[in-house]
Amino acid sequence: MSLRAAVVGGGIIGAAVARRLAHEHGAQVTLLEKEDHLAAHQSGHNSGVVHAGLYYEPGSLKATLCRRGVGLLQDFVDRHGIAYEECGKVVVALDGVQAERLDGLHARAVANGVPGVRLVDGEGLREIEPEAAGVRALHSPQTAIVDYPAVTRALAAELTDAGGRVRLGHEVRALADRGTAVRVGVRADGATATEEYDLVVVCGGLQSDRLGGLLGEGRSPRIVPFYGDYFDVPREQRHLVRGMVYPVPDPRYPFLGVHVTPRVDGTLTLGPNAFLSLGRESYERGLPVPADVLDVVGFPGFWRFAAANVPAALRESRTALSSGQFIAEALKYVPALDTSGVVRGTRGVRAQAMGDDGRLVDDFVITGTERVVLVRNAPSPGATSALAIAEHVVDEALRRRDR
Ligand SMILES: Cc1cc2nc3c(=O)[nH]c(=O)nc-3n(C[C@H](O)[C@H](O)[C@H](O)COP(=O)(O)OP(=O)(O)OC[C@H]3O[C@@H](n4cnc5c(N)ncnc54)[C@H](O)[C@@H]3O)c2cc1C
Repeated sequence: MSLRAAVVGGGIIGAAVARRLAHEHGAQVTLLEKEDHLAAHQSGHNSGVVHAGLYYEPGSLKATLCRRGVGLLQDFVDRHGIAYEECGKVVVALDGVQAERLDGLHARAVANGVPGVRLVDGEGLREIEPEAAGVRALHSPQTAIVDYPAVTRALAAELTDAGGRVRLGHEVRALADRGTAVRVGVRADGATATEEYDLVVVCGGLQSDRLGGLLGEGRSPRIVPFYGDYFDVPREQRHLVRGMVYPVPDPRYPFLGVHVTPRVDGTLTLGPNAFLSLGRESYERGLPVPADVLDVVGFPGFWRFAAANVPAALRESRTALSSGQFIAEALKYVPALDTSGVVRGTRGVRAQAMGDDGRLVDDFVITGTERVVLVRNAPSPGATSALAIAEHVVDEALRRRDR
């Protein structure tokens, strides 16, 4: 009998894992998603960038799975006719200190095997991006943009073609490893049913620590949600940039800073900033979600993080509190932007894992046994890497089962 597998979470990673299990390994797969559509959270609220692998510690999972993920993603979108635009990206230094930091970033990019990366001076920058301001830049010509929700839907279509099931509106409320099988309590249409599987892979994004808690695995590392707002630039200004324009990242902080990003639908966005979110799945600037706030304030690691990051928090709070400050950040890099028509756009919430010591967990974290695998931390470049994460997760899980 073929392997009975359940995948929890219909984001891009869950869809990729489910597809791989069914398509490549002939498993009977059920994808369980609590929302009424796929890619409802991070996978549908991000920058749409296919990262080339500039930033990540060489040898880390992020570095290896991002590079492998780009190749797999390109083949996948080609097969499905999904728009993929290799518009390139510049990481721009505005002053001497930032210019020096670019050397380290360049060395990392080369170590990670990013194709075509090179450093350029201010004049070289203007040849690539005529409207960009800056004294030096790192150019990555193959950084691309794509529609991640479309990729997620196409992954799910391949899953169902291979005989798998996608069950929307199905929330996993209980998980128990019973030694020979895993029991999964699923809530749908007001009723709860218990199902049994040989293998369960949990790709719960913003809920991954809570799902780990259901298994009695402990909740460390804890998910601390950081939101990022986007602003939309009127379409008439799309021509101002050819590709993406990014700041030099602050090495003490895992987020990349407000960037100017074209989208495959022909729009242009500014963002995202990064600030503590008072709700894990809240996209409006509304009331806090009490359970989510309590989770953060009751977590000692958060207070250690807060104490160590006061300057970064103050800096980010400027863009969180004032639209003017937010847009002014982007204007430093593309001064020709006409800000009069720029309006608030969507928001995304990052599932960022934090250790008990208050450190943000940088690399992807995947834990597991032969019956249950948990994707505990898969922030950016998680969407870029999704097909490679799926390959890694599934191959490891099946290897453990065969031992
Ligand atoms: C603002 C922002 C910008 C980003 N930009 C980029 C980028 O440009 N490029 C890039 O590569 N990455 C980017 N990322 C990261 C990327 O979006 C994530 O790494 C990726 O989407 C993670 O996919 P996922 O499937 O793990 O999570 P998600 O997409 O969050 O999916 C998890 C799913 O699990 C479901 N779920 C949770 N609990 C349960 C339950 N109990 N029962 C059933 N279902 C459940 C949720 O409803 C959700 O649909 C960005 C992220 C954010 C937030």
